Amino acid sequence: MVTETERDGLIWYQCEVCGMLFDDREDAGKHEDNCDAEDPSYIQ
Ligand SMILES: [Zn+2]
Repeated sequence: MVTETERDGLIWYQCEVCGMLFDDREDAGKHEDNCDAEDPSYIQ
């Protein structure tokens, strides 16, 4: 799931799987669809 996070007054979209940040929600969604990070130690 992509989560929104505010930083320096801007909204960023974060891939919950790997933690990567995007400034565009579509980019984040597309990334996450293809994100295969399966390391459970990274999921909080
Ligand atoms: Zn990811």
